Amino acid sequence: MVTPSTTSGSAALFRRAHSVTPGGVNSPVRAFNAVGGTPRFIESARGALLRDVDGNEYVDLVCSWGPMLLGHAHPAVQEAVVAAVARGTSYGTPTRPEVELAEEIVARTPVDKVRFVSSGTEATMSAIRLARGFTGRDLVVKFAGCYHGHVDSLLAAAGSGLATFAVPGTPGVPAASTAATLVLPFNDRAAVEQAFAEHGAGIACLVTEASPGNMGVVPPLPGFNEFLAETCRRHGALFVSDEVMTGFRVSRSGQWGLDGAREGWRPDLVTFGKVMGGGFPAAAFGGRADVMGMLSPEGPVYQAGTLSGNPVATTAGLVTLQHATDEVYAQLDRAAGIVGAAADKALTDAGVPHLVQAGGNMFSVFLFDESAGDVTAVTDFAGASAQNLDRYKAFFHSMLDQGVYLPPSAFEAWFLSSAHDDAVLDRVLEALPAAARAAA
Ligand code: PLP
Repeated sequence: MVTPSTTSGSAALFRRAHSVTPGGVNSPVRAFNAVGGTPRFIESARGALLRDVDGNEYVDLVCSWGPMLLGHAHPAVQEAVVAAVARGTSYGTPTRPEVELAEEIVARTPVDKVRFVSSGTEATMSAIRLARGFTGRDLVVKFAGCYHGHVDSLLAAAGSGLATFAVPGTPGVPAASTAATLVLPFNDRAAVEQAFAEHGAGIACLVTEASPGNMGVVPPLPGFNEFLAETCRRHGALFVSDEVMTGFRVSRSGQWGLDGAREGWRPDLVTFGKVMGGGFPAAAFGGRADVMGMLSPEGPVYQAGTLSGNPVATTAGLVTLQHATDEVYAQLDRAAGIVGAAADKALTDAGVPHLVQAGGNMFSVFLFDESAGDVTAVTDFAGASAQNLDRYKAFFHSMLDQGVYLPPSAFEAWFLSSAHDDAVLDRVLEALPAAARAAA
């Protein structure tokens, strides 16, 4: 294990990046704004390990924010991608890998048909357009703390009170773009019932993270997704389950494999991304055949993309899913249990008020003030926002200094891969006690 020594190479690149790119990064959270310090510029990665431009090595608990289910540079994925690149990189025509990946997704998930796009943002944006086109209604319901990409109408913060129309969450989004978005507290059945009682006839769809990982990991309470599906059905609205993060990660299909398949309900539309691209820009939305039949060129709802279904990206996704076997999910569940339990013990031993919360094999660590008392569950964004962010900052930097790369924000999930074997996990377990003491 190479322990972090100098970060001068990363610092020099970050300075250069600043002069040509806003904030020096191409996606905000990479800048370490929430935790401070120099973001690491990564030169290469293999298995569970990242290597930065200064030669420092880190156990990766971010996994590119979820996609790298099999670890970095998986030999089978790499070999298939190299062969695909050798055949050409984009033709703007239909290809075999996109058919095979679509078949694999349809076989694993509750969707009848699927359409490929290049990012999770495009997937949710397109699913919402389709829901509006199908229902002839405009309103969209979402939950505070759920992230669905940087879609204008979904970059919305709640107005005051429950079931109020949203205000833009960022400059650049016109009020008109969020005026048809209702933002509700997650896991709150009463708020959902009230919103549908007041606006049901105008609601095109409700969109939710199938098991949220963008406010830290805050899973749905038992039966909550089923309740949402049933409420939408009663009111003629579509239930859009965003599985961009959870899809093919928490089970063979995603969160639906952990609740819907058992409880016997299906979402009308599902969005996918991350794992299904195998580390390339590929995402998708899919769902009921009658709803998907409204899409151009079969139906009138327009949607398109120059690189959609790109042959290299869909090859990477296909081979990734072919290797995402039941054994892989069993291994990920076990590894998540080991790291979660060790983090819990280290923080308890250090006397830090905390909660380790898991949704399948995704989990995160919430650190609180002493005044928070014994927090046994975080069920919504208000709960997640009660974290002591300075404590996470200290925890994060101690782990980084010991060669473990955690998400550089307290509002993100920790991700493992099938390459996180016992030897790798031991490095994480060794680092946790000192990090917990640093957070005390
Ligand atoms: N939906 C969820 C649940 C996500 O976690 C994300 C990204 O993190 C997105 C949508 C947006 O995906 P992308 O970053 O590929 O646009």
